[in-house]
Amino acid sequence: MRAWEKNFRKVEPYVPGEQPKLDTMIKLNTNENPYPPAPGVLQAMKEFDVDKLRLYPDDKSDILVGALADYYQVDKNQVFVGVGSDDVLGMAFLSFFNSDKPILFPDITYSFYQVWANLYKIPYETPALDDSFRIKKEDYYKESGGVVLANPNAPTGIYEDLTFIEDILQHNQDVIVIVDEAYVDFGGKSAIELIDRYENLLVVQTFSKARSMAGMRIGYCIGNKDLIKVINDVKYSYNSYTMNQTSLYIGVEAVKDEAYFRENLAKIMEERERTIVELKKLGFTCTDSKTNFVFAKHKTAPAAELLEMLREQNIFVRNFASNPRISNYLRITVGTREEMDSLFTAIREYVM
Ligand code: PMP
Repeated sequence: MRAWEKNFRKVEPYVPGEQPKLDTMIKLNTNENPYPPAPGVLQAMKEFDVDKLRLYPDDKSDILVGALADYYQVDKNQVFVGVGSDDVLGMAFLSFFNSDKPILFPDITYSFYQVWANLYKIPYETPALDDSFRIKKEDYYKESGGVVLANPNAPTGIYEDLTFIEDILQHNQDVIVIVDEAYVDFGGKSAIELIDRYENLLVVQTFSKARSMAGMRIGYCIGNKDLIKVINDVKYSYNSYTMNQTSLYIGVEAVKDEAYFRENLAKIMEERERTIVELKKLGFTCTDSKTNFVFAKHKTAPAAELLEMLREQNIFVRNFASNPRISNYLRITVGTREEMDSLFTAIREYVM
């Protein structure tokens, strides 16, 4: 071992879903949206003035922050944007969880939370979900350094209503509660409506799923202006120019077309419900997902085998082999009707 190695920061990184480089595949492994971004995004992309790239982008991301503030009817100083919600969540962990007491998040949730906690040396506890993968709210009634909940949760897809979130907030008035709403548009109700009543609530969302823009990397959070000030101070202490010129201009377009957005969501939710029905016919049990993915377990076929079999046919899905509680589940993104039909055919041939 070299002397300097003892100074290295050693972390076990988050492992993102695979991005295979194949010309034809059915990609249902990273919860991307199967439909293109809004037509206005395409137009803005075509019209984008490349000369703008000479200059640094606006460090305040003003046009994008303004568009989101208008959309959610909040003040600009209640909005913070980042490079995907991963960036926003990472910054939020760094900004708000600076206590000796452990922060709390479920044992089964977005696995990046644990990675940030380790990276920033934030102590944490992971109360177990119950046997139906529901959060036991009483586990969050104790003193802590903060609370993080994905709602709907991932990878279970299960959504808790706002009375549940309010109950958690009532019991955690002295710490920051982060609600990660990456999937909320697919059938849930956002906790953004609670931010005026709970100054310690930070709601995080993304353009990656419902707005079909995972490749653009835009995420944001909304909360009390004092929280947004703190997270901005941390951002400016790390990297002032987070949002590139294109993401600022194109991002504004993505929030304009409400009709396209709603139509897109409706198609995905309808396909999700059909997927659950079809998978049940094939011998799966599925959670009641309110996201753009289903979380499914087959009565006999092991998940790892199904994943491999599908992969050989260039159909990519995800499983979480390292966590014994969910290692036999597949997380399958809802694709187009044709893509899902191909998935059902492949599974049918294998299990029937
Ligand atoms: N939160 C949850 C629960 C997610 O599943 C994801 C997607 N991996 C993210 C946040 C981050 O998404 P993005 O960085 O693309 O906004």
